[in-house]
Amino acid sequence: MAALDVVEDGAVWIGDDGLIAAVGPYERLKRDAEGAEVVEVDGVIFPGFVDAHTHAVFGAPRLEDHARRARGMDYKAIAAEGGGINSSVRDLRSRETGALEELTARRLSHLLALGTTTVEVKSGYGLTTKDELRTLEVIGALGPAPAAVPTFLGAHEVPPEYRDDREAYLRVLVDEMLPAVQRQGIARFCDVFCEPGVFSVEESRRVLLAAKARGLGLKLHADELDGSGGAELAADLGAVSADHLARVSEGGIEALARRGTVAVLLPGTMLFLGKPHQAPARRLIDAGAAVALATDFNPGSSPGMSLPLMGMLSVSQMGLSPEEAVVAITVNGAAAVDEAGTRGQIAPGFRADLTLVAIRDWRELVYWYGANLVTEVWVAGSPCHPRRRPVNFVV
Ligand SMILES: [Zn+2]
Repeated sequence: MAALDVVEDGAVWIGDDGLIAAVGPYERLKRDAEGAEVVEVDGVIFPGFVDAHTHAVFGAPRLEDHARRARGMDYKAIAAEGGGINSSVRDLRSRETGALEELTARRLSHLLALGTTTVEVKSGYGLTTKDELRTLEVIGALGPAPAAVPTFLGAHEVPPEYRDDREAYLRVLVDEMLPAVQRQGIARFCDVFCEPGVFSVEESRRVLLAAKARGLGLKLHADELDGSGGAELAADLGAVSADHLARVSEGGIEALARRGTVAVLLPGTMLFLGKPHQAPARRLIDAGAAVALATDFNPGSSPGMSLPLMGMLSVSQMGLSPEEAVVAITVNGAAAVDEAGTRGQIAPGFRADLTLVAIRDWRELVYWYGANLVTEVWVAGSPCHPRRRPVNFVV
């Protein structure tokens, strides 16, 4: 994770196919790429950032929950007053698909302006077959910049109408939603919120095994608030990632490292919720696990959009080196969406997803915070000029 190559006075040669043809010193590439259009830039070019964990399709922000939490209310008390995840579920169900599409696209344009070129987006505020499929259709209509990777998260919560019969909801997930998701081919991954009080390890295993049988890759919200063996489950089933992990056990850390399941850490969530602890990033890395950082962009626990900010937090709160922080939002972010061979690196054959930042020293990426220093973004070789796009945020 600490292997970073820095090219001074470098250049990137982008082929007509949108892939990187070569990278190296400018003087050498100038000779090799004779006839190519030259774009002069000033700053540091990074691989486009990969945000491997978001819940970006939602309606209104949960401003009341934010204020309630500040008054000392916990998750259960907030839910009892009509807030929490189910308020986002009621909201999404009431919105037209086209309106959700437009709202999500506008929000993702902010992520793009912050340098994110690939973003994983989960469903999970629909929780009916119709509304989960609608959400995945919204995700499918996004892009091309940033590129969206769709994940089915019907097992985000048991919706209120099934509160007294969880078994019936599990049957809807396995017998109705997953077959429809497979039929329509609109998700790459299936995720489950595995947490005491949400879905148990055994329930999570059942949903994930059904998803695996239908050809979906696996992800898991694991050991966020309480350790329950989520990381062990993710590793056991060969999931591509286990996410959150603030309460991961020693056994879970070893299992992730052994199995090559990427640990996706979300420092913004703990910060926003006012939690005093973060995931044990150092122990994960020292055990040999691959660590990625993501925003967890969602209206309840992390309305944050900036991966450079997550990088800064990982250095100041979790003990990552600046090298590890950069790898965690590029190479390992790509690995967490099973795209390690196509993006996340500036190397020949990789997609030309590039983020230009107005800094002198690459370490400044995870140093300055609260300002957006990204000045240009290319996705698949095309300049996106994110600063010149409309980025109205109105709900
Ligand atoms: Zn999440």
